[in-house]
Amino acid sequence: MSVTHVPGFPRIGAHRELKFALEAHWRGELDAAGLHAVGRDLRRAQWQAQRDAGLDRVTVGDFAWYDHVLQTLAWLGALPTRFENRDAGLAGLFACARGSAAQPAMELTKWFDTNYHYLVPELTPELDFPGSAAELLGWVGEAQALGHAVKPVLLGPVTLLYLAKVRRGAGRSLDWLPRLLPAYRRILAALAAAGVDWVQLDEPALVLDLDPEWHAACRDVYAALAGVGPRRLLATYFGGVAAQRELLAALPVDGLHLDLVRDPAQLDAFVADWPASRVLSAGVIDGRNVWRADLAALLERLAPLHARLGERLWLSASCSLLHVPVDLAAETRLAPALRDGLAFAVQKLGELRTLARGLDEGASAVAAELAAARAGRAGLATLADARSPAVARRVAALDAAAAERRAPYAERRALQQAALGLPPLPTTTIGSFPQTGALRAARAAFKRHALGHLDYLERMRAEIREVIARQEALGLDVLVHGEPERNDMVEYFGEQLRGVATTAAGWVQSYGSRCVKPPLIHGDVQRPEPITVGWSAYAQSLSARPVKGMLTGPVTLWKWSFCREDLDAATVMAQLALALRDEVADLERAGIRIVQIDEPAFREGLPLAAAARAAWLDAAVRAFRIAAAGAAPTTQIHTHMCYSEFGDILPAIAALDADVITIETARSDMELLDAFRAFDYPNGIGPGVYDIHSPRVPTVAAMRRLLERAAAAIPPERLWVNPDCGLKTRGWPEVEAALANLVAAARAVRQAL
Ligand code: GLN
Ligand code: ZN
Repeated sequence: MSVTHVPGFPRIGAHRELKFALEAHWRGELDAAGLHAVGRDLRRAQWQAQRDAGLDRVTVGDFAWYDHVLQTLAWLGALPTRFENRDAGLAGLFACARGSAAQPAMELTKWFDTNYHYLVPELTPELDFPGSAAELLGWVGEAQALGHAVKPVLLGPVTLLYLAKVRRGAGRSLDWLPRLLPAYRRILAALAAAGVDWVQLDEPALVLDLDPEWHAACRDVYAALAGVGPRRLLATYFGGVAAQRELLAALPVDGLHLDLVRDPAQLDAFVADWPASRVLSAGVIDGRNVWRADLAALLERLAPLHARLGERLWLSASCSLLHVPVDLAAETRLAPALRDGLAFAVQKLGELRTLARGLDEGASAVAAELAAARAGRAGLATLADARSPAVARRVAALDAAAAERRAPYAERRALQQAALGLPPLPTTTIGSFPQTGALRAARAAFKRHALGHLDYLERMRAEIREVIARQEALGLDVLVHGEPERNDMVEYFGEQLRGVATTAAGWVQSYGSRCVKPPLIHGDVQRPEPITVGWSAYAQSLSARPVKGMLTGPVTLWKWSFCREDLDAATVMAQLALALRDEVADLERAGIRIVQIDEPAFREGLPLAAAARAAWLDAAVRAFRIAAAGAAPTTQIHTHMCYSEFGDILPAIAALDADVITIETARSDMELLDAFRAFDYPNGIGPGVYDIHSPRVPTVAAMRRLLERAAAAIPPERLWVNPDCGLKTRGWPEVEAALANLVAAARAVRQAL
C-alpha cells in the first residue's frame, strides 16, 4: 500500500474563520476560550479533510495562531527575551507578533520565495529553550482522540537558526545550537511517549546555497537527534537538494521528503542507492500552484519507483499546502473550463489518493480519474482567452528599442524638472490612503449590484476629492488619487485584464490574519480597455499639482498570481508589461505627468537557486522597462519596493532605469541606503521616513534626522521624501498628523540645503 500525507495544510479555514476569530479577539469581542474553540474546530476540519481523502496520516503542528515559526519558538520556550510576557499563551504570542505597549513587534519577513511572511526569531545572549511543546502535544492528543494516525511537523533546528537574527553582541546563530538541541530532544521524546511513530522535521534551508559550516551543523544536529523520539522524516522543499546528496545520505534520519515539482530531476540523485531502511517522500503534487496535476504522467513516473521502494515510497505534495486556497467548492462563478483545470488544497488531497490507488491497484482502477485530470488540463487551452495571435505577434515584435526610454536619465531629469517645477526634496506618498469600512462597503455593494454604477462612481469621486483636498492642505508636492477603488493592488488589475481570472474565495494567508486572493493567469494577457485612467484623470482635474498615476508592475502581477504552469514566465511578464505600457500611454494622453509602477514583489520573484537568477533578472528587468519605456522623456516614472533586501540585486534595480524609486527604510534607520550609495545608484530615491506599519506618529525631529542621514548618502537633488509604503491600513488622524510632520521635516531640511 502506498502511503500518502501532506507536509502541511492551510490553517486559515475555507471561509477565513481564523482571520475573523483573530481579529474579533484582538478587538476584545472574542475571549481566549472562544478563539481556542475556533482553532480546535479548524484543526478538526483540516484533519477530517485529510482523512476523508484517504490520507494515511494527518499532519499535526501545521496549525498556528499567527505564524508557524512563532509557534515553534513558543513551543521551544524561545520567544524573544525583550518581551515581558513569554509564557507562550495567546497573549504572549500576539504581543510578539503585533507589538506590546513596551516593545515593537518582531520583524516580519518573506518565507523563502513565497508571499507568506514569518516572524524572525531573535537570538539574544540570555535566550534559552526551556519549552516542551505542551501545546503541540495537546494537538496530537486531540487528533489521536479523533482516531487519526498522526504525523506531527516541526520546523527543524538548522532552518530555525538559519532564519534567526542575532541581536546585541556579535556571536553567530550556530552558537545557539548546544542550547537548542536539548529542547528538540525533549520534544521528540515526548512525542514518542505520546505514541507518535513519525515526525516531520522541516529543513527548507537545505535547498539554499549554504556555507559549509551550515552543512557541518546539519550533520551535528541530526547526529544529536538520532535515537530519540519517533522516526524522523526530513523535509526539504522550494528547491532541489541533489547537491547535498552526500550529506543527506549520511544523516541518521528515517526518511527524506523531496520537492519533485520544483526539481523533478533531483530524484535520480537519490533513488540509485536509496538505503533499504529509509522512506522517500515524493512531493509530486504542486503545493505552490493551483492547476490540476497530470496524474497519468505522474503515475507513469512513479510506477518504477513504487516497484522498487514499495511501502517506503510516500506520496505527497511538494510543500505545505499553506500556499494555495483551501477548496474549489466555493468557486461557482468561474468559467467551467477554468474551474475544471484547477485543484485547491482539498482537491490536491484527492489527487494524492488517486495516485496511491493507481499505484496499488493499477492505472485501470483509476482510469476515470486520470481521464478527468487530463481533460481538465486540456480544457484550459479551450478557454476563449487562452491564445491571442495578436498578443503573440506583439510580444514577438518586441525589440531592444521597446525596452529603452527615449532619452537617458540625465536628460530626462532636466526635462522633468522643467516640466514639473518641483522643489528640492519633493514630498509625496506611495499611493493608497486609509481604506475605511465605508469604502470597503461601497465596493462590496457595487460588486453585488446593490449600488448602481453612477452612485459608485460618485462615491469614489467624493473620496478622491477628499483625498486631494487633504493632500493640498498638507502641502504635499506630488499627489495621488488614493486608490479607493482597489480591493488589492494585484487583484484589481487581475479583474480587468483578459487572460486573467479572479476567484470568489481563493484566499491564501499572507501573514497573521491577512490573506490575499491571487488572480489566475490562464491565457495570453491583454488589456481590453484603460484600467486606471478615469480615476487618475479625475484626480488630476482637481489640482494644479502633479497627480501620480498608480500601476502595479508586471513582475509583481506575475509573482502574486497563480500562473498556468506551462506558460513561460518571461513571456507572461512581457505580456503584462505591454498591457501596462498601453496604460502608461493612456495616462499620459489624459494629462498625467508622473506614473508610479509598483514592484513590491520584485525581490521575492528572484529564484532561490543561484543558477536560475541571471535569466530571471533579465526577464524581470526587461518587463519593467517595456512597461515604462513608452513614456515621453518628460514623463517621470516612479517605482516602489518594500520589504526588500537590495544588496545583491542593485545592478538590476538600477537597470530598471526608473526616474525615482521609493523604498522602505524608516524601521532600519536608512541602513538600506548604504548599499545604494556604495553602488553609486544613479537615479532618484525616496527612502521612507515614516514607518507605516505602526500607528505611531513620527515627530518632525525624527523624520528630519532620517532625512539628514539620507541626504548624506544621496545627493539632495535626487532625494525624495515619502512614507515607507501605502497608507491604506492606517487611520486618517494618524496619517494627517504624520504627513504634516513629514512635510515640515522636508521643508526644514530643504532650507538647510
Ligand atoms: N501603491 C500601493 C499602495 O500604496 C503600493 C503597495 C505596496 O507596495 N505593497 O498601497
Ligand atoms: Zn510598499
